[in-house]
Amino acid sequence: MFRLAVVRCHFVLVLTAVIAGAPALCQVAAPAAAATAPELRVFDRSLIDKTVDPCENFYRYSCNGWFKRNPLPPDQTSYGRFTELFELNRLHLRQILEEAAKPTATRTANEQKIGDEYASCMDTAAVNKLGIAPLQPELDRIAGLKTAAELPVLLAHLHDIGVNAFFGMGSNQDFADSSQVISFYAAGGLGLPERDYYTRTDAKSVEQRQQYVAHVAKIFSLAGEPDAQAQKDADMVMAIETRLAKASLTITEMRDPQNLNHPTDVATLSKELTHFSLADYVSAVPAPSAGKANDMEPKYFAEFNALVSDTPVDQIKTYLRWHLLHAYAGTSLPESFDEETWHFYSHTLNGAEKQQERWKRCTSRVDRELGEALGQVYVARYFPPEEKQQALTMTLAIEQAMDKDIDSLDWMSAATKVKAKEKLHSVMNKIGYPDKWRDYSSVKIVRGDALGNQMRVHEFDQARDLAKIGKPVDKGEWQMTPPTVNAYYDPQMNNVNFPAGYFQPPFYSAKEDDAANYGDMGSTVGHELTHGFDDEGRQYDKDGNLKDWWTADDEKKFTDRAECMVKQYDAIEAVPGVHLNGKLTLGENLADLGGLWLAWKAWLDIAQAAHLDMAATTDGYTPDQRFWIAYAQQWCTQTRPEKLRTQAQTDPHAPDEYRTNSVLQDLPDFAKSFQCKKTDKMVKADPCRIW
Ligand SMILES: [Zn+2]
Repeated sequence: MFRLAVVRCHFVLVLTAVIAGAPALCQVAAPAAAATAPELRVFDRSLIDKTVDPCENFYRYSCNGWFKRNPLPPDQTSYGRFTELFELNRLHLRQILEEAAKPTATRTANEQKIGDEYASCMDTAAVNKLGIAPLQPELDRIAGLKTAAELPVLLAHLHDIGVNAFFGMGSNQDFADSSQVISFYAAGGLGLPERDYYTRTDAKSVEQRQQYVAHVAKIFSLAGEPDAQAQKDADMVMAIETRLAKASLTITEMRDPQNLNHPTDVATLSKELTHFSLADYVSAVPAPSAGKANDMEPKYFAEFNALVSDTPVDQIKTYLRWHLLHAYAGTSLPESFDEETWHFYSHTLNGAEKQQERWKRCTSRVDRELGEALGQVYVARYFPPEEKQQALTMTLAIEQAMDKDIDSLDWMSAATKVKAKEKLHSVMNKIGYPDKWRDYSSVKIVRGDALGNQMRVHEFDQARDLAKIGKPVDKGEWQMTPPTVNAYYDPQMNNVNFPAGYFQPPFYSAKEDDAANYGDMGSTVGHELTHGFDDEGRQYDKDGNLKDWWTADDEKKFTDRAECMVKQYDAIEAVPGVHLNGKLTLGENLADLGGLWLAWKAWLDIAQAAHLDMAATTDGYTPDQRFWIAYAQQWCTQTRPEKLRTQAQTDPHAPDEYRTNSVLQDLPDFAKSFQCKKTDKMVKADPCRIW
């Protein structure tokens, strides 16, 4: 299903997005469970390494004990505190699914769906036995394409069943009027993680392209093509994708919503696409044949139009065949497809040594496909109402801290402050799970038909998405499932979203003191809130319209201050030869710094009101020290070098080590808590500061 990359997640582990069809938003690459699960703590003294000077490397100081205890499992590309909790949640989900998979007469309709979908995915014998047969009607349909004039109807069908070929079309809020939902047309159709993989000229990138072509060829071979033909076809796919990539925006360019806002209407776009009948396409999807639309990347669509006219139909068929196979080459096709897909995307690109066990992938699949049916059971068991209340209290405290912070800014004018506060007070807090659950009653899940189930779920998602066009926006909808260990800010909705799965140790615990909880979960709440005011989020007004509310002078001051952070992160060499991209990561870095600062201020207010003794120690640490250590300990993560390279090149978040040390270097209050000297590594001579 089409997804627009506007929403800001707390973190994203790359690449599942390109594997096996529609990804969940900011999907986490599935990790492995620790053999024995130690108790997860928000502040954990046993993780601290006292042989490291906290003023030299606070990340190592706070996390070395965790690193020793948690060697990177072979099926992992990275493993950290987030994956620890993700694993625990996944065990809980597995239990729910195994119970639901028992075909009892008392199962609810939702339990039948999640249980049978899980059972179908787990039944590798059946999947292997069916082979590629369930996909044959779709392969035949592509083979039947005779002229380019028939492409629109075929492509509409492929999009309906979740194939990411050529472009994406879906519903989204109008940038200019966030109360309206209109058609969005987005660039797409690549098999590598993003466009620069096709254009970079360094040796590693050239090698990765060769490995990609070999992977495409292997998939064609598995689908029955003779090797020589498969190789030729893979080269053809590479040529078409390279052409599409070159016409696409870079991921850094895509961060600026202005670059993605090109209002048009379906009729105008239809006239521009002289070689592709948009009328045929929208009537086949089906989607509205008139009305407002956004052509997110006009240059891309001009190139697509040219490509359709000058590319032989056989080559287009080859390209479509690859994307069809690619979309289904996960748990729906025989293990040979699944393994080959894992080998390229998880092993070659990200360094994993072993594939995850099937139950883990099937559990994640059900969460991705029927997440609110599964989530409903999850929430009833694992998210008591009092936790929702605690989460809300914390969110409101941090909003209050931001209100005071805006007052205190010496660089922002009174006029912009008024607008900033209006926006802050309009933020909607969504915690845990949706008020109204998604209705899956029209999705047919058939036990033993893994591929058919995947297809029908895509059709359901597509129909649900397109039905929103022309209707008022539903602000209650969630883009993450309840068990997700993540959070996001949506600039067009102006809301922050914290799924139930996140409000647990090691990120939050009712048993811990405020210092630990605010340093950890509080910083995340502040992070999401700050996204409304980062380089991207600040361009939207309180109602989510892309509308400038800054005075020119304040805008310049903001940009100058942000430039300090661009330079700070540009200077970091994540793996030899690969620096972080300061512009790509700017929004997240601003949110990390702003979020931690707001959590700190909120906690200081609470501590003061409670007359907390700031010199008293617990576990040998003062409350302020516990605050900073809890912040750092959420980021303890082991990452493979291959994964680190992918992350540095594609992820808008800095690697976790810098999300700790670089952020703290900009906060003099941290240095005070540990009595760091000006010459220490954890102290920056000219700290960056915006909020
Ligand atoms: Zn973020």
